[in-house]
Amino acid sequence: MTITFVCTGNTCRSPMAEAVARRLVDVHGLREHGNRVVVRSAGVAALPGSPASLGARRATAAADLRLDAHRSLRLTERLIAESDVIACMGRGHAAVALEMEGGAKVRLLRDEEGRELEVADPFGGRQEEYDRTFRELEVRVGGLLAGLFTEGFARPGKGASYVVLGNPVAHSLSPAIHNAAFRRAGRRAVYWARPTRSAECGTVLRAVALAGGGGNVTVPLKEEAVASLEIASRAVAATGACNTFWAEDGVVHGDNTDVEGFLGTWRGALEGLRLPAAPDVLVVGAGGAARAVLYALLNFGLAKRIDLWNRTSGRAQRLVEHFARVTPPDRLSGHRLRAVDSWEGAAPDVVVNATSVGIDGEGLPLDLHGLASPPRVLIDLVYGKETTPLVRKALALGISARDGREMLVRQAEASYRCWFGEDPPAGVMSAALPQTRH
Ligand code: NAP
Repeated sequence: MTITFVCTGNTCRSPMAEAVARRLVDVHGLREHGNRVVVRSAGVAALPGSPASLGARRATAAADLRLDAHRSLRLTERLIAESDVIACMGRGHAAVALEMEGGAKVRLLRDEEGRELEVADPFGGRQEEYDRTFRELEVRVGGLLAGLFTEGFARPGKGASYVVLGNPVAHSLSPAIHNAAFRRAGRRAVYWARPTRSAECGTVLRAVALAGGGGNVTVPLKEEAVASLEIASRAVAATGACNTFWAEDGVVHGDNTDVEGFLGTWRGALEGLRLPAAPDVLVVGAGGAARAVLYALLNFGLAKRIDLWNRTSGRAQRLVEHFARVTPPDRLSGHRLRAVDSWEGAAPDVVVNATSVGIDGEGLPLDLHGLASPPRVLIDLVYGKETTPLVRKALALGISARDGREMLVRQAEASYRCWFGEDPPAGVMSAALPQTRH
């Protein structure tokens, strides 16, 4: 498969796209099973041999990608004929590629909502403009590559297919960590991200599982995936959410390994700190992730008092009522789970952020100064390329804090155990995560 990125002079946008794609091809498992992948870039008006622009070199270098060796290619009919996908930065480039008989190979890159949009041209602008274009490209190139299995360009091969189903999924880190573990363990399997609509979730999930593979489910499909299972774990039944699926003897199973992911993170976060055996906890957020957190806290006897606060208070109240119904009485006794109208003045030992606030690198779900006293531990389920704002704030206040990366790895390790009945190779998944910038 040959993918050609096309812009005008081939000195900034398409070389940046090429650099991103070279890295993501392996992350998305596109080279597994003998798939041959060639990535290159060309310009409709390129001066052949021109180096990448300085702005493009700097923007990519900040992400550890190198464009030093880049030399422009001019778009020709021959390049078009040799390509399977011609991804254009603008409509003008697409028009030229169509004139050169590019036909159905020609496309504009899509944004996170799936809209075909032009990629902003930073040429001659300030460095921030190059950086912005680079970030745009990371999302759109990721989306393009994530879709290539679905479109039939890459073959899952004879090995088993593992997928993450959700929307959007182009930026999921799951392909990177699972493909790294599959490779190290010598498994004939590939893991890829499949953008999936709600209406097709059940069909795809069952088809992949019954073909001998499995996978994960992410936002917004975790709840509806439950209906496609024949055997749901206790965690799935109690949380109403499934994030991992596979089949055994023709029967589709599902689990919610976010619970195990949180449990491992909790134990690691509290280890070595002199805290009560069952501390007081404030959980912020009442979505799907909060369900996994509450299930773990209640069923493993981790907390004495659990206060649940959510922006939409009715949702927190409903969650409390839900857990009062589904938690066995012996597990519920000794805890006090209640929905609270405010976190101000509370004095929890541990704060858990289960909202999505901070996912874009901005915003705080609560003001730690508003608590009666700082908690000892903060667990933020959110993670990103940089330390989350809440973790930064907590660390500045001397609170022991960690973001959601550890939970991500631990839930992935637990998924691997569901699929293969053994631990993944030690340390491989964490090592495959991109470094966090501080
Ligand atoms: P979700 O079901 O969509 O719930 C989102 C939660 O965030 C709701 O409680 C929502 O409150 C709250 N929220 C959103 N925007 C807010 C704002 N501006 N101010 C205050 N509250 C806001 O999502 P989810 O599945 O629970 O996921 C939540 C987060 O956990 C995501 O960032 C996800 O990536 C992360 N997560 C991480 C892992 C991991 O392995 N590290 C695993 C699972 C989830 P309302 O009810 O008021 O809308």
